[in-house]
Amino acid sequence: MKGICILGATGSIGVSTLDVVARHASLYKVIALTANTNVDALYEQCLEHHPEVVVVVDEHKAQVFEEMLKNSIVSDIKVLSGVKSLEYVATLDNVDSVMAAIVGAAGLLPSLAAARAGKTILLANKEALVMSGDIFMQAVAESGAQLLPIDSEHNAIFQCMPAGYKSGMRTKQARRILLTASGGPFREMPIAQMPSVTPDQAVAHPNWDMGRKISVDSATMMNKGLEMIEACILFGMTPDQIQVVIHPQSVIHSMVDYVDGTVLAQMGNPDMRIPIAYAMAWPERFDSGVAPLNIFDVRRMDFEEPNLERFPCLRLAYRAVNEGGIMPTVLNAANEIAVDAFLNEQIRFTDIPVIIEHCMDSVAVKPADSLDIVLEADQHARLVSKQIIAGLIH
Ligand code: NAD
Ligand code: MG
Repeated sequence: MKGICILGATGSIGVSTLDVVARHASLYKVIALTANTNVDALYEQCLEHHPEVVVVVDEHKAQVFEEMLKNSIVSDIKVLSGVKSLEYVATLDNVDSVMAAIVGAAGLLPSLAAARAGKTILLANKEALVMSGDIFMQAVAESGAQLLPIDSEHNAIFQCMPAGYKSGMRTKQARRILLTASGGPFREMPIAQMPSVTPDQAVAHPNWDMGRKISVDSATMMNKGLEMIEACILFGMTPDQIQVVIHPQSVIHSMVDYVDGTVLAQMGNPDMRIPIAYAMAWPERFDSGVAPLNIFDVRRMDFEEPNLERFPCLRLAYRAVNEGGIMPTVLNAANEIAVDAFLNEQIRFTDIPVIIEHCMDSVAVKPADSLDIVLEADQHARLVSKQIIAGLIH
């Protein structure tokens, strides 16, 4: 029996994780769940999974939640609040596995705490890895933690790696990664129409059902840019060894090209319970609840090269990883601020890459030697991006 802590339990990945946990109640016990503000969803999860402790980051909402629990059948659950509590629950002694599924930079410190504590980390929170790269991988190596990627592409690549492969290892046998992308909802929209797309159009992804931030990232293809950086870090590859491939059917979730000419691909229906179940059962496999892939329904699979004029965010991600140091952190922070402003209807869809590029131009590259430098670069880039947005609005 393994104890699991789910950071970001009320989100899209958190909900899918609990669905898989419910199918394997004899193997996994929920120790801790965390949410930012959504106490209603968290309450339902508590009734079903009865964790020992929960974190509601927002202090006021945590008080509300305590009231909700008082006369319930789960009144014994301990309620904590504040960001430090995320690190506390991610490192509890009876927690073996930590699902890192908080969205954005907010997930960095608790994910890193789990890495330092030597936990098995099921990593969905790509932003944390993009920001902290070497620091994160070093923490994993030093503590003997196990890092299993949840992002469907990286999970696919991991599955296509040689037996015994561990995250962070370089393998000379693999010469290239083919990182697949659906191309999002605007793959075929005339470029001239892109400035007027609305948040609702941007979050309506053709193949995947995800949180709002990552859905916008998929529409700009910043998601693929962050994933390209994530793949460099996880698989010890250089950016030129990673080819982004647009594959609109989302049946192949990525491929590894080996030196002998073999290409291994992982396929399945587009449902995050597959990579989640793979990581939870690893190195075995168990039921994910996902229907078998009907290859006859798929009929055909298409592959295209991405158009960097349509998707400037992808170009900016290559620029950030090539400049190195704090630049991936700056890219990520500027993107989070710009996406937020777009979702709040303050800026246009096509302003997102403009803001990020402007922010990257305004910040000097320096090595990301320590966590403090990374956190400072993150805060600075957020401030700069907000100033750029204020300039655009007025
Ligand atoms: P989501 O918006 O649905 O959920 C986010 C979760 O994080 C919620 O539980 C929320 O309460 C919590 N949260 C948000 N802000 C927080 C803060 N400031 N402090 C603490 N907790 C906070 O997001 P999601 O789609 O589940 O994505 C989560 C992560 O997984 C992201 O990093 C995303 O890139 C990655 N991911 C998601 C998918 C997917 O299919 N949804 C696929 C691959 C990777
Ligand atoms: Mg992905």
